[in-house]
Amino acid sequence: MSQGDPGNGAAAPVTSLTDPLDDGDRAPAAADGPTEKCGVVGVSLTDRAAARPLYYSLYALQHRGQDSAGIATHDGFQQHSHVGMGLVGDAFDGTDLDGLAGSAGIGHVRYPTAGGVNARCAQPFSVSFKSGALALAHNGNLVNADDIRDELASSGHAFTSRGDTEVIAHDLARNLIEADLIRAVKRTMDRVHGSYSLTVMHDDTVLGVRDPLGNRPLCIGKLEDGYVLASESAAIDTLDGDLVRDVRPGELVVLESDGSGFESYQLFEEEHTARCFFEHVYFARPDSVIDDTLVYEARRDLGRALWEESGVDSDVVMPVPDSGRAFASGYADAAAEDGAEVEFAEGLMKNRYVGRTFIMPTQDERERAVRLKLNPIRSTVEGRTVTLIDDSIVRGTTSTQLVELLRDAGAAEVHVRIGAPAIVAPCYMGIDMATREELIAAGRPVEEIRDDIAADSLSYLSVDAVADALASSRADLCLGCVTGEYPYDIDGETADRDVSRPAVGEPPPADD
Ligand code: 5GP
Ligand code: MG
Repeated sequence: MSQGDPGNGAAAPVTSLTDPLDDGDRAPAAADGPTEKCGVVGVSLTDRAAARPLYYSLYALQHRGQDSAGIATHDGFQQHSHVGMGLVGDAFDGTDLDGLAGSAGIGHVRYPTAGGVNARCAQPFSVSFKSGALALAHNGNLVNADDIRDELASSGHAFTSRGDTEVIAHDLARNLIEADLIRAVKRTMDRVHGSYSLTVMHDDTVLGVRDPLGNRPLCIGKLEDGYVLASESAAIDTLDGDLVRDVRPGELVVLESDGSGFESYQLFEEEHTARCFFEHVYFARPDSVIDDTLVYEARRDLGRALWEESGVDSDVVMPVPDSGRAFASGYADAAAEDGAEVEFAEGLMKNRYVGRTFIMPTQDERERAVRLKLNPIRSTVEGRTVTLIDDSIVRGTTSTQLVELLRDAGAAEVHVRIGAPAIVAPCYMGIDMATREELIAAGRPVEEIRDDIAADSLSYLSVDAVADALASSRADLCLGCVTGEYPYDIDGETADRDVSRPAVGEPPPADD
């Protein structure tokens, strides 16, 4: 196999940064934020062009990021890349894909930040140095990016953004000057702390890396004529491939550049993992399998546990579409098994042309957007007691609006059941949660939240039920947003997990 050319030992400095953006749309670097929850892919095929399989798999991961989409390929001689703003379908046209030559490549979809799009943060991020080209797609968030950036900057590396992906790319490029690919990746992993699932392309060698605590998902799939790495298995399904397995925490997977297989290097082995439970609760597609658990089944199990822990008799159980669906169906099944006479119905219709409302910049806009997005079906609600089920409450906008909407539509009672514990603290590992001040549940008892959203009753799920549904121990999950205890030492936050790294940097600015 070819493991790529790591720079041939010559002290080849990083000479230039190739900004893959070709539209001249430059945002000021100061506006750049940290890398967020995103989707990454990588493919290595025998002799078919990688561009279209990458494009289709990005489509499959669109829910993980709608801000920008990008692909970088390598044809054995040179790297090609195209990055565009917006949805995958808008970012590429046929000509763009035709221009992406080569049977190896990586791709990225980026999660949006409040206040608009930012071209500089679009990925894959490319670095070219004398004897090689590197492209990198990142899902996650480093907690010590600033320290490493400062150090690299003082030794002459020029940065174009405040993003942490660029930090990984420069660090890896520097290490590749002195070491082979495997050692270089290990050195970089030694230095960067935080969450990362990466797809990387060094010349025409595609690799995947998952951080030692496995915070973000990444899996390997087999195609008829090659291999694929993806944030979620749904992307592999889209390519008619088979899920081989998850990339293990701390593992480096190197795809053979002829598409014939892959090699695995377990570079780090920690006692515990810190898998993000919110992937299964909200973020991932229900048809994806992550760490051996089908997301849909996990959500149904969470719904069942919700009935067992806090079931309430009502005429009708209805989900908040789409995120509450699997929870509500598990909840209704468990209720029926217990002999409760409850109807499972869709009582809220969703306008599928309205995008994600969560990241709208002002509260007023968010409230308006919920109303645009969801409309009650009066006949399922009128004169009846209703249990409304959603996956999570963050600021409380959705539940407040919906309780009011259902009452206006004639509901006699509205009970709210949430398929996750109360979100009481920010996420530093890459999910766009609100700041602590904005979180409706931060430091407040459930009764107050119930009163705020004006529900007749409100219950959340216990943390133990989450661990059960994910077939995991609490110690192997990142539960920072629901416990305030983080798997990394973050300035100003508690870290009493037994897996921790040295105190590092500032927490990233919260995105809301
Ligand atoms: P809230 O309206 O309480 O601020 O947010 C809760 C709603 O937002 C839920 O319906 C949930 O499905 C969704 N949600 C939860 N976390 C996230 C997130 O990180 N990003 C986005 N876009 N939506 C989220
Ligand atoms: Mg939702």
